[in-house]
Parts: sequence; C-alpha cells; structure tokens
Amino acid sequence: MSAFVVPADRAGLAGSHLDMLSPHPIGTLTFDGVPVSRGDLLGSVDGGFRVAMRTLDLFRPSVGAFAVGMASAALEASVAFAAERVAFGGPLKDQQAVAHLLAEMATRLSAARLLVYAAAAAYDAGEERLAGKAAMAKLFATETAQFVVDSAVQIHGARALQHGHLLEHLYREVRAPRIYEGTSEIQRTIIARDLYR
Ligand SMILES: Cc1cc2nc3c(=O)[nH]c(=O)nc-3n(C[C@H](O)[C@H](O)[C@H](O)COP(=O)(O)OP(=O)(O)OC[C@H]3O[C@@H](n4cnc5c(N)ncnc54)[C@H](O)[C@@H]3O)c2cc1C
Repeated sequence: MSAFVVPADRAGLAGSHLDMLSPHPIGTLTFDGVPVSRGDLLGSVDGGFRVAMRTLDLFRPSVGAFAVGMASAALEASVAFAAERVAFGGPLKDQQAVAHLLAEMATRLSAARLLVYAAAAAYDAGEERLAGKAAMAKLFATETAQFVVDSAVQIHGARALQHGHLLEHLYREVRAPRIYEGTSEIQRTIIARDLYR
C-alpha cells in the first residue's frame, strides 16, 4: 500500500460536507479513478501503511492534548463556580460531595496530562514502538475529558446547558474525540496487543 497527497481539485476526487453535533470541517470523500504520479507519493512505494501508523502515533497524543485542554477549561470553570455559588448556607465547594468531585476531576486530569506528555516525549525522542503509549494517551485523556466536562455540567446545574455557555459548547465538543483517530475500543485493542509484542 502506498500513500499519496493530491490537490483537492484533482480529477475524480470529490466529497461532501458532513454536519456534525459540533462543527467540524469534515466530509465524505469519493475517489473515481484519481490519477496519481510519483510526484504525489508520500513516503516510499509500499510504505503507505507505515505513513498512516506513524501519523496516528502523532495525532493520537495531539487529540489527547485537545481533550486535556477541554477538561482543564471545564475544571477551571467548576473551581471558580463552586467557590462563588452559595446554596444551603455556604459556597458549593464546602459541600463534601462537590469537593470530592472536584478532587476526582483534578486527579484524573493530571494523570491524563502526564500520559499525553509521556507519549509526546516518546515521539520527540524518536521512539519506534509508540503505538501503545499513543493509544493510552488518547484513550485516557478523551475518556477523562468526557467525565470532567460532564461533572462540570453537573456542578454548574441548569445554567451550563444554556446555549452559548462554555460548558454547553464543551459538552458537544468533547464527544467526538472518543470516536475519531480510532475509537476507545480500538485504543484498548492496540494497548492489549502491545502488551504481548
Ligand atoms: C468529528 C469526526 C472527525 C473525523 N475525522 C476523520 C478524518 O479526518 N479522517 C478519517 O478517515 N476519518 C475521520 N472520522 C471517522 C472516524 O475515524 C470513524 O468514525 C472511527 O474510526 C469509527 O469508525 P465508524 O464510525 O465507522 O464506527 P464503526 O467502525 O462502525 O464502529 C462502531 C462501534 O463499534 C466498535 N467497534 C468496531 N470494531 C470493533 C472492534 N474490532 N472491537 C471492538 N469494538 C469495535 C467501535 O469502537 C464503535 O464503538 C471522523 C469522525 C468524527 C466523528
């Protein structure tokens, strides 16, 4: 298998936009006898699979970093909100149920960030066997971001669900990364396979 890069207006290449839960510049592509030449080759002849896998090794930690960013924003908003919102005679942060949830969010977020750094550092160091680390970073960071954003919505109550609220935006945005660049199930398969290599 070989990989090629062609301009979007190359004959035979077409596509249409997909309207998703949150806006993404993605679509379906169709290839109908698209002509390619050696000048379009990406990597070496028959080296396409390696190009794809190496790209995923880089993109999976970067999706993890995106997830860490979303979770950080949600945690930051929750810490501020729980300090200022007064209910039942005191700020929410003094309710143990809320405080423990904030602690759980912060702990999982820190662990996710470290996994992303570990995968990114391994990539920068030129490590060859990266798939497991990249999959762990992507899996844990995206699942953590889902938990943290959902918890942040719970802490904020109904206001978080109003259109235009930061968390309403994050709640829609956080769902897709558990699916693209390989679903969470596929990341677990990669991690398990890596244990036996
Ligand atoms: C916002 C967004 C952007 C995207 N961008 C791109 C892009 O730029 N390029 C691109 O090529 N694709 C892109 N995708 C597509 C994405 O990579 C696929 O949606 C993803 O790989 C899952 O494939 P699928 O949707 O066909 O689900 P399916 O493969 O049909 O899977 C459905 C469910 O079955 C599970 N499943 C499938 N096989 C197994 C298995 N062997 N073991 C366990 N569980 C399994 C999956 O985990 C999932 O839960 C994008 C998707 C989204 C949502």
